[in-house]
Amino acid sequence: MTTSEGPLRVLYLEDNPVDTDLTRRALARLAPHIQLESVTTLAATLKRLAPACPEYDIVLSDLSLPDGSGLELLAHVRERDLPLAVVIITGSGDQEAAVTALKAGADDYLVKKDNYLNLLPKTLTSALANFQTTRAGRRKPLRVLYAEPGNFDADLTRRYLAQHAPHISLDVVGTGTEVLECLPAEPTVTSPYDVVLLDYRMPGLDALEVTKALRQERGLSIPIVLVTGHGSEEVAIQALRLGADDYLVKQEGYLQKLSMVLENVQKQAALTTAEVRYRNLFASMRDAIIITDLSRTIIDVNQPALRTLFGYEAEEVLGQSSAILYADHDHFEQTGWAIFNRHDLVPGKLLETRFRRKSGEVFHGELSALKLKNDKNDPVGNIGIIRDITERKLYEEKLKHLATHDELTGLANRPLLLDRLEQSLHYARRSGCLVGVLLFDLDRFKVINDSLGHAFGDKLLCTLAKRLMHLVREADTVARLGGDEFVILLAEVAEPEDVGLVASKILQHLAEPLWVDNREILVTASLGISLYPKDSDDGATLIRNADMAMYRAKKNKRNSFAFYSPEMNQRILETLELEGALRQALERKEFCLHYQPQVDLASGHIVGCEALVRWQHPERGMVPPDDFIPLAEETGLIVPLGTWVLGEACRQARDWQEQGLLGLSVAVNISGRQFREPDFVATVERICQESGLEPQFLELEITESVVMENVESAIMTWADLKLLGVSLSIDDFGTGYSSLSYLKQFPIHSLKIDRSFVCDIVTDSNDAAIASSVIALAHTMGLKVVGEGIEAEEQLQFLKEKGCDMGQGYLFSRPLPVEEIVLAIHQWKR
Ligand code: C2E
Ligand code: MG
Ligand code: MG
Repeated sequence: MTTSEGPLRVLYLEDNPVDTDLTRRALARLAPHIQLESVTTLAATLKRLAPACPEYDIVLSDLSLPDGSGLELLAHVRERDLPLAVVIITGSGDQEAAVTALKAGADDYLVKKDNYLNLLPKTLTSALANFQTTRAGRRKPLRVLYAEPGNFDADLTRRYLAQHAPHISLDVVGTGTEVLECLPAEPTVTSPYDVVLLDYRMPGLDALEVTKALRQERGLSIPIVLVTGHGSEEVAIQALRLGADDYLVKQEGYLQKLSMVLENVQKQAALTTAEVRYRNLFASMRDAIIITDLSRTIIDVNQPALRTLFGYEAEEVLGQSSAILYADHDHFEQTGWAIFNRHDLVPGKLLETRFRRKSGEVFHGELSALKLKNDKNDPVGNIGIIRDITERKLYEEKLKHLATHDELTGLANRPLLLDRLEQSLHYARRSGCLVGVLLFDLDRFKVINDSLGHAFGDKLLCTLAKRLMHLVREADTVARLGGDEFVILLAEVAEPEDVGLVASKILQHLAEPLWVDNREILVTASLGISLYPKDSDDGATLIRNADMAMYRAKKNKRNSFAFYSPEMNQRILETLELEGALRQALERKEFCLHYQPQVDLASGHIVGCEALVRWQHPERGMVPPDDFIPLAEETGLIVPLGTWVLGEACRQARDWQEQGLLGLSVAVNISGRQFREPDFVATVERICQESGLEPQFLELEITESVVMENVESAIMTWADLKLLGVSLSIDDFGTGYSSLSYLKQFPIHSLKIDRSFVCDIVTDSNDAAIASSVIALAHTMGLKVVGEGIEAEEQLQFLKEKGCDMGQGYLFSRPLPVEEIVLAIHQWKR
């Protein structure tokens, strides 16, 4: 290292005046270029080092000081990255401390012993060299474009920097024009230089014009430093106004300041760039970021997110307490902030709370908070990051709702019902009140669903659900268990009668016409009731018992309710057993057909037979159809059973024809379920073909209720059957609601007047009147009339008088097994 470039400035921290004096003398003698300034305390030293550009190259410090230690000084210098080499002097025997100092970043050390003062100049110069190389190694290179028309100055500067700040590289040009050529034309292009250094006297474009061009025309932000002559500071001031960053006055020692100034402006520019970058990031965050001081006054916010989330402009909240953003700020003050103030927020720890928009609207937000700290790591405020989680909340609530509610109707589902039931029972046990469980399903919902479509059925259920919700108290629960099955839980009931009242109210309201898809629809329900504590003290059992009671109600009469009774259990069990047996009966061939003759009243001849199914139960004996046909309907077994009956009857009728009983027809009862099967007509056709029976000898009996249940599709089916050539008759006429004129639409062959009318025909003038007018009307429509259940001669006479075409009943014959019927026909005489 040469010393020609200038003096080496050393600040010497030493509280012992003798040592200071000796050192000063030694240096004056050995190395006069080293300038020594001395101080005696750490505090005084720190003060001298306070300016951004300390006036020294090296600090030489004693290890033990009156107000601290040399290590503290070292830490201060290194933390602030001051461009100073540090050399520590220790007393003899204190080498260990010296090693600690080296580890902490000292550039060298010296032990006060023997002729250490002779070593001092060399130690200082090599420490400085060491400092500069390590610092250069540590430092980012700084690329400077220097416009300097004077070769001498340029050379001097270059040499100085090469020696003292080797990380600074210098490209020298002679004119302002060249400067402009070397720099980008617009801010989007990366500059090859970090700083521009301009001499105030330049030929052509001067420093001010170059500054103006760079800043105003090109919009570049590259730092600009001016070098002015002494007394020409005015130019520098003007340059600063145009956007230059700093200036230096060319006077004694300015080169020492140069690297410092260059680094400072570069650091400043980097900070500005970083600031801009972070500002952009800050502004682009979707979450609102609220920065407050320690008193929670808002000092900074990211405007766009603030506006989106809260509807405020930044000016409206700056200076306000952050409390204005919280919906429940009292609560939050006590809980939320307390949590955040106690701890630095653990990353990932979030607090959910409610916020209030400027409009007053409240929303759910998620808050993460951090302490705002200054560069000394002291807390100076809070940073709150607020995310709007309204959507997530809604979604969560929806999920929760889905888990506990029926998706279609929005009513409670089974788990929720059980839960509520449990709560009600719990309360009832303490308060002594009753709990009522009402379970019902809709009569014939399946028919509606099958004929009008599932979408229609769904709409009907929704409309009903709404109606039900209005019928009960808030404390009660309406639930849908699935299909058309509903439960109403009456939470607190005083008397069992009250439950009965609610039940009839519900049935009554359900029976009122509903409008679905512009179609008026009538539904009725059968309702079962169970009560706590009478019927059970367990929720699931109460529901099951109500279900049994409903089953009972259905059996009794549609649109009615029944209270549970223990005997029901027995009945139900029997039914279940029967159902099981019924399933196997077909395979086990336990069914057979009996036949009852149909007599032409005018001629007295047998013209046909009605086939009536019988079940020979292995234990119960002969089971009448009224006991198992409804069950077979419910379980769907009627379809295979009915097909079997049809096949068997047709085969039998064909046999009769072959045996010479020509013209004898067979009537077969068809259930509603069977009739609605999509392939019903095809089945009939197939059976006729397989049995070889001509369709004209087959008559199908269908009750009027089945016809009325689904008029449109029934008309189609009937038309197809008519085309096949089979006859159709309405069974049990008079028990349903249809009027004769209504039946005009159907291609009917005959009407069978129900047994109940025939029974009282002679005693009840009403029934007599009905029967006569039915016969008369049917005849005007071209229909034949069959009187059912004729048991007495008077009944027969009456019907004959009124012109009834045919008759059937015990008076002629009971239904008989196939072996007997043929005999009966042969012996027939009337
Ligand atoms: P239904 O079609 O009206 O059949 C007439 C019923 O009246 C038969 O009862 C018959 O035994 C009874 N009966 C006939 N004459 C008299 C009488 O003078 N006095 C009295 N009191 N009763 C008489 P059954 O055989 O018990 O059948 C009852 C019902 O079961 C039938 O009523 C029919 O609806 C149904 N059914 C019978 N067999 C079948 C079948 O194979 N398929 C379907 N789907 N239903 C059937
Ligand atoms: Mg019949
Ligand atoms: Mg009948």
